Amino acid sequence: MSAASTQTYYQELCRLTRERLGGLHSPELLIRSIDFARIERLQMSGNWAAAGKVLNREALALERGGAELLVLATNTMHKLAGEMMLDVNIPLLHIADATANAIKALELSSPGVMATAFTMEQSFYIDRLAAAGLSPIIPNADDRQTIHRIIYEELCKERIIPQSEARFVQISERLNEAGADSLILGCTEVGMLLNQTNVSLPLFDTTLIHCEAAINAALS
Ligand code: GLU
Repeated sequence: MSAASTQTYYQELCRLTRERLGGLHSPELLIRSIDFARIERLQMSGNWAAAGKVLNREALALERGGAELLVLATNTMHKLAGEMMLDVNIPLLHIADATANAIKALELSSPGVMATAFTMEQSFYIDRLAAAGLSPIIPNADDRQTIHRIIYEELCKERIIPQSEARFVQISERLNEAGADSLILGCTEVGMLLNQTNVSLPLFDTTLIHCEAAINAALS
């Protein structure tokens, strides 16, 4: 969705393809990059129905263009997965399912979640993790507001600010104290600030997990 996220996905899909296939191999894919300002306006005004129509139109176009599998490069907009997939006949690789599988494979169960307010506070994501057998832990209200602000005001604009990294690290530590045994980077831009070098909890970066699952599905 944000161009920052789309670029990370493309880089990661290229890297994984080189790693798996070697030589000059690169992934065959279609990217539909959308003006994120338009999407963000619809999110903030709560006009999810209009956003769902945009996503549906794009998914249908990708299917017509020859795509065999859909990957939606954002956690938040999985809120509209159902609307997006209306009359679409190729599968969607759901980011929360890929993430839940990765966590369960390591026998962890209580991930902290750092994401947009939509993802942390609404049921479409947290309930899906719970239905997969996990007990997700979300940050307190102040921390949720901080994360949301940093995502939209900085990360989606590719602004990397050391003070924000420090705040994210502190929030991850508070989640650990609240009982988290792992941490979901539940927004595709959060990996721009957090990784396994500045977080001690086992970390699950949804972007990297999603790309890996997409490559696995494409090559299988
Ligand atoms: N990329 C972010 C996410 O994973 C938020 C921005 C968006 O709505 O795409 O939720």
